[in-house]
Amino acid sequence: MATINPAYARLSAGYLFPEIARRTREFQSAHPDANILRLGIGDTTESLPPVAVAGMKEAVEKLGDVNTYSGYGDSEGITPLRQAISDLYQGWGADVNMADVFVSDGAKSDSANIQSIFDTDNVVAVQDPAYPVYVDSNVMAGRTGRKNDRGQYEGLVYMPCTAENGFFPEVPKQKVDLIYICSPNNPTGTVASRAQLEGFVQYALEHKAVVLFDSAYAAFIEDQNLPKSIYEIPGARKCAIEVNSFSKTAGFTGVRLGWAIVPEELEAEDAAPGVLHKMWTRRQNTYFNGASNVVQAGGLATLSSEGQKQTNELVAYYMENARIIRDCLVELGLKVFGGVNAPYVWVKTPEGVGSWEFFDQLLTDCHVVGTPGAGFGPSGEGYFRLSAFGHRENIQEATQRIRDRLKL
Ligand SMILES: *Cc1c(COP(=O)(O)O)cnc(C)c1O
Repeated sequence: MATINPAYARLSAGYLFPEIARRTREFQSAHPDANILRLGIGDTTESLPPVAVAGMKEAVEKLGDVNTYSGYGDSEGITPLRQAISDLYQGWGADVNMADVFVSDGAKSDSANIQSIFDTDNVVAVQDPAYPVYVDSNVMAGRTGRKNDRGQYEGLVYMPCTAENGFFPEVPKQKVDLIYICSPNNPTGTVASRAQLEGFVQYALEHKAVVLFDSAYAAFIEDQNLPKSIYEIPGARKCAIEVNSFSKTAGFTGVRLGWAIVPEELEAEDAAPGVLHKMWTRRQNTYFNGASNVVQAGGLATLSSEGQKQTNELVAYYMENARIIRDCLVELGLKVFGGVNAPYVWVKTPEGVGSWEFFDQLLTDCHVVGTPGAGFGPSGEGYFRLSAFGHRENIQEATQRIRDRLKL
């Protein structure tokens, strides 16, 4: 008799994006002529860099010829790609070598799967608000109780990120074991400073905790003083795992390619250096047969010098969108955060207006869809996320409508 994993019953219904879709659909059917502009979803819109297209075409041609055909590769990824990723880190002044790099099908799967190499009784700390995957993967793994009436899962440690602390938390007061940090942050658009990351690395070293660092938006950092990787911080190789991706930098959201860094020196309470690295190798070798070789060729091409020039242009395009959105909201007198060194603009809703109320107002007045902050965690209430991923003309049109029609 099969029985189900009871932890899944504790998951709150996937509320955020389905609810956005429901309200948008309802509005559209009541107003069939409304041209709704979507600044809500964190999906890329511009076409792939030409080098990526050429790299993938060439790889496909090789597969079509018996003399150059290849089948399964190493589950850790092709050597030139792992080398190019470690070179990228070295270029940032981050201490990463090729053997640390595990190529994957994306940072979402890595950030969800990584918890599986840690015991179920580990105490997990998350930034609040946060990318929902960190919380949900730990709920599914049985590390939490039910969601309480404050919207928090019992057993998780929430680290509030609000305007008061500049959207970056102090290190936890209690002992926690696994700490998720995302910088540049989705949804708040905040980037952790070097000193802030040093604080968490020091905490992790002291408590034999592990930091799970998501740097999916590292390429959007323009300020040279801000760290792009946690491995720019001395000691991080002993206490941090990092995930990153080609999704936002190179438009690979549908193509699928990312990586995790699990350093040889990484330690835990009961794991000497090398143990966690071996466990992740074993885990990936069992659950994963490697990212597509065609896609890896495309990703590799984006890390060439011409490739980086093209991805930088793509990033600059989205960052110009972020500037346009920011300027509009600032002009209206709203309190605006993020949108600098990050593709998300995080705006405080007007006094007394909740996240979902603001969503409805923006949709009704301007026919623009954004994302209610409350959907990312209880501390997101009273905030609203606008994404800079979009065609320029849609961003211009949306901001013009917000200027002209939003009743504050
Ligand atoms: C988009 C995003 C990712 C990337 O996920 P992929 O699976 O690589 O597409 C990872 N983390 C955060 C916070 C994101 O917003």
